Parts: sequence; structure tokens; C-alpha cells
Amino acid sequence: MSLTLSKKAQAVKPSSTLAITAKAKELKAQGVDVVGFGAGEPDFNTPEHICEVAIKAIHEGHTKYTPASGTVSLKKAVCQKFKETNGLDYTIDQVVISNGGKHSLTNAFMAILNPGDEVLIPAPYWLSYPEIVKLADGVPVTVFTQKENGYKVTIEELEKAFTDKTKALIVNSPCNPTGMMYEREELQAIADFAVEKDIYVISDEIYEKLIYDDEEHVSIASLGEEIYKRTITVGGVAKSYAMTGWRIGYAGASVEIAKLMSSIQSHSTSNPNSIAQDAAEEALLGAQDTIEEMRKEFDRRRKYMYKRICDMPLLSCLEPQGAFYVFVDATDIMDKKYKGETVATAANMARILIEDYNTAVIPCEDFASEGHIRLSYAISMEQIEKGLDRIEDFVKSVE
Ligand SMILES: *Cc1c(COP(=O)(O)O)cnc(C)c1O
Repeated sequence: MSLTLSKKAQAVKPSSTLAITAKAKELKAQGVDVVGFGAGEPDFNTPEHICEVAIKAIHEGHTKYTPASGTVSLKKAVCQKFKETNGLDYTIDQVVISNGGKHSLTNAFMAILNPGDEVLIPAPYWLSYPEIVKLADGVPVTVFTQKENGYKVTIEELEKAFTDKTKALIVNSPCNPTGMMYEREELQAIADFAVEKDIYVISDEIYEKLIYDDEEHVSIASLGEEIYKRTITVGGVAKSYAMTGWRIGYAGASVEIAKLMSSIQSHSTSNPNSIAQDAAEEALLGAQDTIEEMRKEFDRRRKYMYKRICDMPLLSCLEPQGAFYVFVDATDIMDKKYKGETVATAANMARILIEDYNTAVIPCEDFASEGHIRLSYAISMEQIEKGLDRIEDFVKSVE
């Protein structure tokens, strides 16, 4: 045997969003006045009542292994939350607590995929989906959506991408990076499609609480017995409760799938952090007023950012309905020249913005979307204003 490496591991792309955020942090550390629109996490601290429960957990000795798939009391809390906010009936043997929503997704794909199974991923998508699918021996299939349809996948697009190898479909509403949400009727049509084709649905609902105006979050699994059976509903406390570092996610699925996810987890990571599990329980069942304050602040920033971008030449965007991102269409800039050179790609635009304007944005090539950038509004209003001024200067300088 020679010292070769895993082909599967080598086929995984390192996360480009983390790379840009790292670059911005590095410049900041050097004292550069950087505006970072890359943030993929709330800029708020975890609410105090949640932190207190964690401190108490340490002092009370909740510092040992818990059952690999999570504590019974957190599972009960998740079941209660599924019931009350999503209209979903899951029993505790249908729930698996993992080390973040990303980990829940990884376990889910490992539980259902065999080598060569295809997974339909509507694009623009969160860049981890195809990589997670590949790690689970599946084949990611990109399904491109249209701006005219709010970047939401249509049944025609799904039909075209469907083959006899299709095993599952990912639904992400509210969506990262587009901020779009599926209406109940749209989800019903997708559910009918999944049932008719006999495929699984992985529903990533991590942003369910961060929604604006009169939007209603609907869990696809709540739309009927058949779709319920074939859906794995994934959520977590990271985004809604400003708890990204705590690493708690959860999934609701059939007993059969939940069992497989538990055994996978029992031999890989074992239980998620015991203290964080107590904290997550408090997050789900405790007072919800602090998260409402966060949501309102996000909403204020969202409105401001949307208006500013609409008013800028060459850039456009749809008004985001959820999450904390504005997905900016910069395709009109791609054939313009900056300092004598054609901008050409979103990656180049991001490079110019960080190098010449001290502003970090996420180019969306890895989200399967050329000519687009993602701006996060999980940064202060003051930073947003400053950063948008800089982007506007850039936009006005191209010719
Ligand atoms: C942040 C995020 C997740 C999961 O985050 P965790 O920190 O692993 O809980 C899942 N899906 C999307 C689309 C996200 O943006």
C-alpha cells in the first residue's frame, strides 16, 4: 500500500464562506477598518437566561455522557416545539439531537443514501449541501431556479432533474442564501411530487424563527401523512437563539431513520455536549422575548439594506422574507471594467471589494450562482451603512 489519501475526502471543497470570513478577521487583527458582510451567524450574544442554565448544569454535575442521541428531556422539549410551532407529531424515539444542524443533516444523508443515489438540490443553495451528500456517498444534482420565481424550485424543474437514481430532495425555507420562503401551496406541490416519485425530503428549517412581515413558516412534513413519513425535518438553536458556538441541532424522522441516525452518531461523535443540551432545552421552552428583539433588529437592517441596494445602479435583489441575508444580483457588473480589467466573476468582485474597499462579501459561485454576492445583515447598522457606502463607491467606479 502506498500513502494515498481518501478520494472522498479530497473531493470535498473547503468552505469558501469560512475562508472569506477568515480573511476579513485577519485584516481586522492588523487594524484595518474592515466591514464584514460575510457573517453567517447572529451578532448577538446568547440570551442571559440560557447561559445561566448552562452554568447551573455545570455546577449540578451535568457533565457526563448522556444517551448518544441526546437527553430524554431535550428530546421532549424538541417534540413539544415540533408540536406547538410546526404542527408535527414526533415521539422521542423519532428525535435525534446532534452537534448542530449541519451534523443532523450529515447523519440524515448517511442514514438514507447508498453509493450513487442522487439528491436534488435547488440552487442557489447553501454550499455545504453538495459536500455533505458526497461525504455520504451520494451524488448531488443541482436544480437551477429562476429569479422570476423568487429562486424557488418549480415542479417542472424537479421533473427535468429527476432520474431513476433520485433518492431525495432538499427543501430549505427560509433559504440561505436567497432569504426566500416557500408558500404553503408551493410546499404542497413539492410534497405531492415527492410522494408521487417515492423519494425522501430533507427539510432544513434552521431559519424558521427569523421571518419577516406576514410570512408564515410551514413545515413540509405537516402537509399530510405520506409526506410526513418520508421527510426528515432538521432544525437547531444556532441561528434563532444566537447559539452558533454551542453546537446543538436536531432532527425529526421516522423511528426507523432516527434509529439509524442514532447508531451512526453513537459510533462517531456520541452525545452532543451535555451542558449545551440543557441550554438548548431552555432556549426552546424558556422565554422567547429576547429572540423577538433580535428578530426586530434584523428586520430593521433588512429593510434598510434592501432599499439601499434597490437604489444602487447595476445591482438588484429581491426583498428577503427570512434568514439574515440579501442575495444580490450583480450580473450587470460582470461585463463592466474596473481599473481597465473586466470584472467577469463574483469572485473577482469580492476580491476587489476586500482589497480596495476593505469590504468582505461572499461571492456565490459555490452556492451554484454566478454573478451574485451574498450580504449578511447579522452585523451592526453602523457597519451596514458604512459597507454599503463602500459598495456604492465601487459600483459607481466601474465603466
Ligand atoms: C447555519 C446553517 C445550518 C446549520 O447550522 P449549525 O450551526 O450546524 O446548527 C444549516 N443550514 C443552513 C442553511 C445554515 O445556514
